[in-house]
Amino acid sequence: MGDRVVILDRDGVINEDSEQFVKSIDEWIPLPGSIDAIARLSHAGYRVAVATNQSGLARGLLTLADLDGMHRKLRDLLAEQGGRIEMIVYCPHGPDEGCGCRKPRPGMLEEIGRRLSVDLAGIPFVGDSLGDIAAARAVGAKPWMVRTGKGEDTLASRSPHLAGVAVRDDLASVVDAILHD
Ligand SMILES: [Mg+2]
Ligand SMILES: [Zn+2]
Repeated sequence: MGDRVVILDRDGVINEDSEQFVKSIDEWIPLPGSIDAIARLSHAGYRVAVATNQSGLARGLLTLADLDGMHRKLRDLLAEQGGRIEMIVYCPHGPDEGCGCRKPRPGMLEEIGRRLSVDLAGIPFVGDSLGDIAAARAVGAKPWMVRTGKGEDTLASRSPHLAGVAVRDDLASVVDAILHD
């Protein structure tokens, strides 16, 4: 049980998503219950990692300093509740750059598996988009969908990729399910 890991998408799972991109610390707003949910994972002995597409960097909409600031805000809020995120991996590329890290490609999840020395088979990956589901499946992780962020729209797409995916209202509900497994 030493290798219990949960991987999270960021925008739409931990914090409010925006069609205009989340570009600043002030625009980084945690979703209700998400910080507490991550802290509960920490307290239960889970290692938590984040894998997030941040093409706003390639688009010039935010800087690495902005991104660092957001992640400091996340870590500070979490620390207040005794929680911790072990690793945040981001893809800075645009959709047309053909990188291996931008979800739906699995590069970020593979990097997390490597750096945490953990087998990703069956590891929960919580997301709100089809790209998250595809990336999870590509590494044998277990995809979970939330209805927050782009989640409702993703579910409304009725994509065949949704078949067999566990769905919950939000991250807090996913964590409830993981911890009661
Ligand atoms: Mg998302
Ligand atoms: Zn990339």
